[in-house]
Amino acid sequence: MDCLFCKIINQEIPADIVYEDDEVLAFDDLSPQAPTHILIVPKKHIATLNDIEEDDLETIGRLQYTAAKLAKDHGFAGDGYRVVMNCNEKGGQTVFHLHMHLMGGRQFTWPAG
Ligand code: 5GP
Repeated sequence: MDCLFCKIINQEIPADIVYEDDEVLAFDDLSPQAPTHILIVPKKHIATLNDIEEDDLETIGRLQYTAAKLAKDHGFAGDGYRVVMNCNEKGGQTVFHLHMHLMGGRQFTWPAG
């Protein structure tokens, strides 16, 4: 399958990995939009939020749990941070392997662009 994030998971493409367990991988975004910008992905290929199945719910919870853990590890959990999941073209998704953006270390505004 020609999927960029599957290639990172399979170590065919390098990435700065910050966390890994049996179900998820987290690595630095190549084009960071905040002082800390980490992508957290399921190891299972799921293309978009629309493709999540009931069997995936534990893994999806683990993405969120990992985001909070990494926010604490990086020291900005108390100050605040942002998690984002973009879905399909109008949602701004460019890589079609489900991923959660974890961004911290600056002030965010709302609404997002
Ligand atoms: P999306 O726009 O799909 O929500 O987010 C995709 C993210 O993947 C972007 O923030 C982009 O900077 C990041 N990205 C694209 N290609 C690579 C890559 O080869 N390596 C890493 N680490 N991040 C990438």
